[in-house]
Amino acid sequence: MKDLKREITLMAGIIIMAAIAVTALGINKISNSLNVSNAAETEKKEEKLEFLQTTGSLKAGDKFQFGVTGDTEGITWSVSDKKYAVISQKGILYGKRAGKVTVYAKSASNVISYSVDVEGKKKIAIDAGHQLHSDSSTEPVGPGSSTKKAKVTGGASGVATGVPEYQLNLDVAKKLRKELIDRGYEVYMIRTKNNVSISNKKRALKANKSGSDIYIRIHADSSASSSAKGASALYPSTSNKYLSKKLSKKSLKLSKAVIGSYCDATGLNNRGCIVRDDLTGTNWSKIPVTLIEMGFMSNSAEDKKMQKKSFQNKMAAGMADGIDKYFGDE
Ligand SMILES: [Zn+2]
Repeated sequence: MKDLKREITLMAGIIIMAAIAVTALGINKISNSLNVSNAAETEKKEEKLEFLQTTGSLKAGDKFQFGVTGDTEGITWSVSDKKYAVISQKGILYGKRAGKVTVYAKSASNVISYSVDVEGKKKIAIDAGHQLHSDSSTEPVGPGSSTKKAKVTGGASGVATGVPEYQLNLDVAKKLRKELIDRGYEVYMIRTKNNVSISNKKRALKANKSGSDIYIRIHADSSASSSAKGASALYPSTSNKYLSKKLSKKSLKLSKAVIGSYCDATGLNNRGCIVRDDLTGTNWSKIPVTLIEMGFMSNSAEDKKMQKKSFQNKMAAGMADGIDKYFGDE
């Protein structure tokens, strides 16, 4: 009996102490919240929502911390188009691909906005080789050269499908454009339709003028032998008369990267990099350049393969992998 009595007294003591603690906490909480609301009211009167840290431009793949005045806790961050950039709830903007976005910071009573130009990682010039009508009038094969070649030749055509090379080149070039834009690059297309009249020299000059970092020339091969197969990359040698050694070396590096990744992605036979110093469209280039011979249109199996949309997607992805690799190793 004695023990029970002691236990009850003890328990009562604990309960009372707990009650005191809870009450004290409660009072504390109320006074805290009172302070907070008072502070918020004064802030609202005195402080307008404004940006502290901003940027007008951001490269795809880069991040930038946006900042605002006052308490950042209650701010909701958003962007006008998630295709180009996304923003975290801490205000960190991440550039995805070239385009314009507006950044919004929203508090309980205010919304402010800031316009940001998302720039591409690098700019790629793509030429879909050939065109609807060939042009046999001539032009110099390189700056200052007395040697002349036809402005644009006719190109190959599919032995099984009958599809002309200019069409295949344009189809793959457009897929490559999409793939590169999705990966955050800017793209300059030399042509987007078949019915054009642009010589090989003019194509290179357009690529130079576009402000692009590299120049990708898209072609398909043809041979008298129907068994010839595979892909290759044509590059200028270091003894090329029209290009600097440095540019030739960079062009070989680009050629190696693109043809390697392209053959990995497509499973096509890799014929490697082949020296060509007689290509007008390469010799007039002022930026690293490669000409990809994607496969043989004179080979029935490769011709049919290259006409499949799913295969064309692999071709484009493979070239883009090579471009990623080239810039990654730079
Ligand atoms: Zn061609």
